[in-house]
Amino acid sequence: RAKTGLNQTICFYEARMDEAARTRRALAKDLWAGIERKQFSLFYQVQKSVATGETIGYEVLLRWLHPERGMVPPSEFIPIAEECGAIVPLGEWVLRTACTEAARWLHPYKIAVNLSPVQIGHVDLVALVSQVLAETGLAPSLLELEITETTIIADKTRALHILRQIKALGVTIAIDDFGTGYSSLDTLRSFPFDKIKLDRTFMTEVETSPQAKAIIRAILALGRSLNVPVLAEGVETEDQLALLHLEGCDEAQGYLLGRPKPQADIHELIRRAKTMQSPGLAPDAANA
Ligand code: C2E
Ligand code: MG
Ligand code: MG
Ligand code: MG
Repeated sequence: RAKTGLNQTICFYEARMDEAARTRRALAKDLWAGIERKQFSLFYQVQKSVATGETIGYEVLLRWLHPERGMVPPSEFIPIAEECGAIVPLGEWVLRTACTEAARWLHPYKIAVNLSPVQIGHVDLVALVSQVLAETGLAPSLLELEITETTIIADKTRALHILRQIKALGVTIAIDDFGTGYSSLDTLRSFPFDKIKLDRTFMTEVETSPQAKAIIRAILALGRSLNVPVLAEGVETEDQLALLHLEGCDEAQGYLLGRPKPQADIHELIRRAKTMQSPGLAPDAANA
């Protein structure tokens, strides 16, 4: 009986895996069509100085409005896009669209664009970035590229070579989701980063775990001694923000400071802040 039960369980999981594989294949097919049919759009999430509350920039977050499935989260479609190669045209579209939109903003905020490891491995990224900057007229210093450690680990020598050339253009590099990867400290030592983005999991646990708090402190100390600013991701509560302030964290991003918003909303926030002529007031003081 026990054996039958186990077999049934296995069959159940196999059926579920089949279904998951079918969904992935279907999404892969839809991705290519979705690019053609302009189903993608960009959302922007504010990044602020912890000390002053001033807006520093916006992270660019890709959104896919699927005609039948509705909003598909990036955590679901980015891995599929990486697997089937659609990330190459998609990533290029993100970079070009974000630079075009930001170049039209009435205030020169920085934009942070996420890069996939595939883009470092298979695309002439340096040529693409310099071409897009030239096309859109966005100042290179207003573009930041976010990469994770996975990006670097695949081919360290190549990654280092490419990142150095990108930095030579005047573009900055942030290390994303820091603290969750493999060789964090070695990566920091050998790569030319301009910002460390502390992974969201540390914020989630900070109020309940003394270990999480200790690690945050250690990473902030590391940032200070390497002279690299640290941004805390996933800040959702006033208590978390107060803690970051106390510990001397440089920047923060999270639902408390602002949810990711469509381009039109950001443009309007900046326009309103401009017409109010109050430079001290952050444009998105009224959070959604
Ligand atoms: P990420 O780069 O670490 O982006 C931050 C994610 O955290 C975003 O999820 C954002 O909406 C979410 N977030 C921000 N503040 C909070 C908060 O206070 N609480 C919580 N619970 N979440 C918060 P999103 O937009 O779903 O993106 C997920 C991941 O997908 C991103 O993680 C990034 O790795 C990837 N991604 C998004 N857009 C792109 C893109 O254009 N290209 C590539 N290659 N990857 C992208
Ligand atoms: Mg990111
Ligand atoms: Mg992140
Ligand atoms: Mg993440």
